[in-house]
Amino acid sequence: MSGIKSVGILTSGGDAPGMNAAIRAVTRAAIYNGMEVKGVMRGYRGLIYDEIIPFQSNSVSNIIQKGGTILKTARCKEFTTTEGRKIAYEALQREGIDALVVIGGDGSLTGARIFAQEFNFPIVGLPGTIDNDLHGTDFTIGYDTALNTIMEAVDKIRDTATSHERLFFIEVMGRECGYLALNGAIASGAEAAIIPEVVEEEDQLRNLISNGFRKTKSSSLVLVTEGEITGGAMAMAERVKQEYPQYDVRVSILGHVQRGGSPTASDRILASRMGVAAIEALMDDQRNVMIGIENDKIVYVPFSKAIKKNRPIRKELVDALNVLSI
Ligand code: ADP
Repeated sequence: MSGIKSVGILTSGGDAPGMNAAIRAVTRAAIYNGMEVKGVMRGYRGLIYDEIIPFQSNSVSNIIQKGGTILKTARCKEFTTTEGRKIAYEALQREGIDALVVIGGDGSLTGARIFAQEFNFPIVGLPGTIDNDLHGTDFTIGYDTALNTIMEAVDKIRDTATSHERLFFIEVMGRECGYLALNGAIASGAEAAIIPEVVEEEDQLRNLISNGFRKTKSSSLVLVTEGEITGGAMAMAERVKQEYPQYDVRVSILGHVQRGGSPTASDRILASRMGVAAIEALMDDQRNVMIGIENDKIVYVPFSKAIKKNRPIRKELVDALNVLSI
């Protein structure tokens, strides 16, 4: 047995729907297995500023359906320094916390990896991000909910786009990862997705227009991943105004609405399974791994693998969108 008696849990970085379901699952699984649980507020900040509270089973009642995170989340500069992490370690010792479960995206898991190595401290990570940009897991917690929010928003934009015969660029989140744009486009029947993964290979806008885009349609919807790599929806619209002035172009930036809302059944179930698996991993003496899901099976992914940059996009999805948008 691992000898872990007390587990700390925190959410860090960008929030994602389903984080509460994960907090609930980790808490209940730990208590079920005879461990104490402590909630750390505001990500790594809570370790440095000592915002740590004891959790019971009912501390996580009535939260599975709620978006956001009851533990709050934050970005914490101090934790990126050796001195800051030392203060965090001392807080864990003082509180008698033997292991941490960190729920967050690649930044949070990078911090977890560094901390775990530096202090030989057991940490298990859960992939909590709407971006679906971590390696070694088919899905991250929050991605499915965000995708559904995007689909609903694009359905609504389609109504107005069709009435006015317009070309719409709809900017979605994802940073360096095009999964939300690509699957959002497939789910909503949009014409195309402009995604970071193929920016270097091709001029996606030019190809779209030269491939007969809009010839047979009264409106066109194109999803664009936010960020510097694609330039975002505004940059696309500017280009169209300059290069293809015959189009009546509009931009819609979906923004933070994508992070909110009650998590879907898929996200709740994913978060619940991963939360239980995190405690099992700790009991199993697994160290410094992220819980992932591959082909519907729970897997342990070493932090170093999970946080590698540039998760490749599945070409089959790009091809499917091309086929469907004729
Ligand atoms: P996300 O987890 O959503 O990717 P961030 O990239 O903002 O979010 O990271 C969240 C927090 O994780 C940061 O504020 C910082 O406290 C910690 N973190 C990120 N990168 C590092 C790093 N290289 N070293 C230590 N801590 C880090």
